[in-house]
Amino acid sequence: MEDDETAEHVPTMHLPGGGQDQVFDTRQSSTYARGSGQILAWQDYRLLKRRLELLGELVLTLNEKIFQIIHKPPEKTECLDVLEKYLKHKYKDQSGIIYASTIKECEDLSEALNERGLRVKYYHAQLEPGIKKLIHERWLKNKYQAVVATIAFGMGIDKPDVRFVIHYSVPKSVEGLYQESGRAGRDGKNSDCILMFSLADFLRNVSMASSKNEEKNAKSILEYCLDQNRCRRAFIAEFFEDKWEQSECDKMCDHCRNPKEIFYYDITPAFKDMVQLIEAASEKEVKLTLNKLVTAWFQSGTKQLRISSLKKPKCTKQQADHIIGYLVFKGYLNIDKGYSMYTTLAYIQKGNVSAIDRVVMPYIFGLNYQKVSTETETVAEPLAKKSKS
Ligand SMILES: [Zn+2]
Repeated sequence: MEDDETAEHVPTMHLPGGGQDQVFDTRQSSTYARGSGQILAWQDYRLLKRRLELLGELVLTLNEKIFQIIHKPPEKTECLDVLEKYLKHKYKDQSGIIYASTIKECEDLSEALNERGLRVKYYHAQLEPGIKKLIHERWLKNKYQAVVATIAFGMGIDKPDVRFVIHYSVPKSVEGLYQESGRAGRDGKNSDCILMFSLADFLRNVSMASSKNEEKNAKSILEYCLDQNRCRRAFIAEFFEDKWEQSECDKMCDHCRNPKEIFYYDITPAFKDMVQLIEAASEKEVKLTLNKLVTAWFQSGTKQLRISSLKKPKCTKQQADHIIGYLVFKGYLNIDKGYSMYTTLAYIQKGNVSAIDRVVMPYIFGLNYQKVSTETETVAEPLAKKSKS
């Protein structure tokens, strides 16, 4: 903990459009002034300091950004279809950024989109400074509709009319999501911040984390990705310990635009199946990646990893991802990092589950497990509580 916590000041950070940051100590404004788009204030100096360290550039409010998550299709071609549609129709003649998670992904994606006739260019840390400058300039002049970038693309970007920021892969933290999305809509007009979620991408981030802290950051975003009815903007604001009422969103996130009723499902049978599969594989000295676990659960793939007495689950692969993600989030399943010759891997392991006899999961209508009346009925306490520092 930092000693600045005792500071009595209520600091305000003033952000003149694109200019220098100035920090004031003031008691004038308590919560941050929404609507102006210019003033952010935090009651806690520690948080302000953390954010200044974190961002190192303009911080913008959540105003005028429409946050949404879409399911990322499993096949690359389908992912490309999604992006092509966005760029050719919804964002026709509009400017944006597509964030990918690795240099290779960024180059591959950019080239695949070029092949589909889109004017985009990749950008990452390994490019020559002259090339980077050129790409940046061309994008500023709208010669490129979008830059397909790693997070290296960000510092000093002040293009006002960025209408979309798409995270093609799960961001490496909630801070990352917030910061990268902050590059959209600097002209104060509506812009979209879309996250394409897949559990596999989330697991890859965790496996690639090179410190405990990075790992914790990578995990912090899972709850945001799995949530199905809470206001996205409220979630982000609360993550940074700002106050935010769902009603203030004014339909500026997918959940507030299209509210869905949530039900509670008893997913204990799914959980028990997975534990059995993990234990059986472990006896054969095999560790299960997400893909292997799901494949075995659906009674396909390597016969050696299947259990013939288990029934094929009555859910879709997308729902299976959600269930596994939820179990990981709750700590009922753990992620174990491993290394192959070329890459890092994430294995799904059993959590500390001896005391768990029932797992209830919130989900929208349509999951083929037994509905129960309330989440708190007889659910065991989560073993891994969400940690916040
Ligand atoms: Zn909302």
